[in-house]
Amino acid sequence: MRKKDLTLWCTIIVLLLVYQPSVYALSNITDVRYWSAPDHTRIVVDSDQPLSFKTIELKDPLRFVVNVEGAKTTFPHKNVEIGDSVAHRVRVGQFNKKTLRLVIDLVKPVQSTVFTLKQYSDKPHRLVIDLNRSDLEQKEKEARLKQKSREHSIIVIDPGHGGEDVGAVGQKGTYEKDIVLSLAKQLKDDINQRKGFKAFLTRTGDYFIPLEKRVAIAREYGADFFISLHTDANFSKRVRGASVYCLSIKGASDEAAKVLAERENKSNLFRGVSYADDKELDSILIDLVQTQTINDSLRFGGMVLNEMSKVHTIKFKQPKQAGFAVLRATEIPSILIETGFISNLEDEKRLRSKAFQGKLARALSTVSFDFVTLLAKRDGISIPAVTTSRGKRAASHLVKPKETLWQIAREYNTTVAELVKVNKLKKADHLIVGKRLLIP
Ligand SMILES: [Zn+2]
Repeated sequence: MRKKDLTLWCTIIVLLLVYQPSVYALSNITDVRYWSAPDHTRIVVDSDQPLSFKTIELKDPLRFVVNVEGAKTTFPHKNVEIGDSVAHRVRVGQFNKKTLRLVIDLVKPVQSTVFTLKQYSDKPHRLVIDLNRSDLEQKEKEARLKQKSREHSIIVIDPGHGGEDVGAVGQKGTYEKDIVLSLAKQLKDDINQRKGFKAFLTRTGDYFIPLEKRVAIAREYGADFFISLHTDANFSKRVRGASVYCLSIKGASDEAAKVLAERENKSNLFRGVSYADDKELDSILIDLVQTQTINDSLRFGGMVLNEMSKVHTIKFKQPKQAGFAVLRATEIPSILIETGFISNLEDEKRLRSKAFQGKLARALSTVSFDFVTLLAKRDGISIPAVTTSRGKRAASHLVKPKETLWQIAREYNTTVAELVKVNKLKKADHLIVGKRLLIP
């Protein structure tokens, strides 16, 4: 090697050494937060850069360890006490110069999902650790299945968003997730005071549930209908008023409804793992029951708008339609209510007020009662009690004119999915009057 070349190489090596610290600039962990649900806990780690990680499971005592590569922390608390049914605490410590270690002390064995979320809006880069106790999840599911009843009309209320997914944010800093949870609780209490009615919530606290899981919860409860509660937001601070949406399978009623559905469906960005979704069964269900259910949903939506107009400003007089993922239980009449624009000062003030929430809850419970009465009259079912005694089941059912699978499922305390499966119904099948259906 010539002397000139040697000098060049030396210069390059020195330059590389000088610039090495910038190559290894460590990510800074700025916060560690958690959200507790009855059967799972989500831990969220904030960072100023994208994070890479490795996980380890340790026994005696049970621990879940996440090594965050190339990270340090300015996070002041070394321990985050959790104390729920999943984890005791998270211990945060520097494992070596380049690795930050999170040790989560567990209560019982868990199923874990760890993933990263990109910087979005005012949110930093995040590492999400989902710890799921499948034993508790199963218990929750069994408790829901026990609630299925022919003696009560069951209404499942879904407060949108939750946990890391705050939803829309008001000018005064109000979160959509908080408003809709508070309203949902009031609505549940109001409905439960009515004889023959039982209301349940898809989430009871500040935690995230994927949209498909919300649909599954409604089905497990055997919901007669489903109400998803949200608040809207707009760049224009002047836009205000409530609106109602139903599912559309064939495209949205207009561009605004489509954009809104896309925004509400974005909740699933926070889920990290896809839910088992029986697509084939769904397509059969859609073909068999969509018209009836969507018509019922539209009718219910219209009644809701009419009743709400007595206490609140209404944006659109008719329900609109779009592909909302949370309304995909096609055998259950389902509506999504945007209870107002949280981006409008007047609407935000109203929605924050417990007194106004009470008024809105009363209006929604009144219209729910009216809707069930209307359906019962149409379907010849007595309300609140039903005439056939519980447990006495026919082995088969003769399809009567204008009957739908949903009505038959309701009559025999089963689900449309079970009827489809037992009777081996195909996508192209229609309910034929006089056809005998096996009852599972
Ligand atoms: Zn929403």
